Amino acid sequence: MNSIFSNLPTTVFEVMSGLARDLNAINLGQGFPDDPGPDDVRQKAADAVLNGYNQYPSMMGIPELREAIAAHYRRFHGVDLDPAREVMVTSGATEAIAGALFATIEPGDEVVLMQPTYDAYVPLVLRAGGIPRFVTLRPPHWHFSEADLERVFTSKTKAVVFNNPLNPCGVVYPREQIERLARFCIRHDVIAICDEVWEHLIFDGREHVSMIALPGMRQRTIKIGSAGKIFSLTGWKVGLVAAAPELMKVLSKSHQFLTFTTPPNLQVAVAHGLGKDTDYFSGMRQSFQRSRDRLSTGLAQLGFSVLPSQGTYFVTIDISAMGLDDETFCRNLVTKFGVAAIPVSAFYTVDSVKSVVRFCFAKYDATLDAALQRLEKAASHPDLLKAPS
Ligand code: GLN
Repeated sequence: MNSIFSNLPTTVFEVMSGLARDLNAINLGQGFPDDPGPDDVRQKAADAVLNGYNQYPSMMGIPELREAIAAHYRRFHGVDLDPAREVMVTSGATEAIAGALFATIEPGDEVVLMQPTYDAYVPLVLRAGGIPRFVTLRPPHWHFSEADLERVFTSKTKAVVFNNPLNPCGVVYPREQIERLARFCIRHDVIAICDEVWEHLIFDGREHVSMIALPGMRQRTIKIGSAGKIFSLTGWKVGLVAAAPELMKVLSKSHQFLTFTTPPNLQVAVAHGLGKDTDYFSGMRQSFQRSRDRLSTGLAQLGFSVLPSQGTYFVTIDISAMGLDDETFCRNLVTKFGVAAIPVSAFYTVDSVKSVVRFCFAKYDATLDAALQRLEKAASHPDLLKAPS
């Protein structure tokens, strides 16, 4: 069997969710909301199954959804996209990332990745024959410097995968950082694969800067979004891809042999959702921001060192002062105290940061409060948290 996949452990999300189920723990690990998602969007999907078209939709996505995506990004990011030539629907953002890597890389090409990387990136780059070149991001701000980029961009660099807002750290990159990366992409003639699935999950009035909207980037950016994240429907796996026609022509070729299409009922429902009033999007943001505050404040009151969460569903704590690593912390937390979390070291390939733990706050207040009660017990038993397995 292929060595990249046979040597790969099961994804940390599946492992932690499995442990949470087996141990009846509160699952603040894998990122999915308690909230079932907007009624009208789910109703549309149900109606479309019963009364709509259930055969293969067109490969690039139903025209109604492609138009809705173009209109949505015009409204929120000021990007003009031609729905017929510059928009594609995939079965989740992960398919879009895989497809983008397969469509851009020749074996031996270098791909710049920022650690912590979302866990799909490295195996997909390797399977595409690419050579990952890592920028290592560190707490508390997780920013990259000019020198960081100088070290990894070479004449062999074909693409960079850039996740903004950044999972697992909850960072929303400011414009200067994105402009810095764009300068390197232009200087080295590199394609930017922009994983922007958290684009609507940003707090405290921050702006989401899309790389595709920066001067010089329009022709070299593949922008990837996720309806699942926008509508709290993570199981739907509807990915939104935007790219200039020359790129899209090739992207569509890799998509046609990965999944080819995406369930038509979900596409109808997402098209409806993307057209919702701006109030929906700001209300959704406010509600997640409130949950972020509830969990962050609770964790800080228990004495944990909370790193600021500017976006995503996640808040992190820095446990370096506690004298244990993140994996030990998470293992003991779930087995002894019944709360699942994610060790951020799982997202590093080299020079791991082992002192940061991620919690998902996209939960009902009661879930967060119950988790905090258990975390209070954990905080008062550091000996149990530190015990080796
Ligand atoms: N994006 C989700 C997270 O970060 C996980 C998705 C998955 O389990 N593949 O928690």
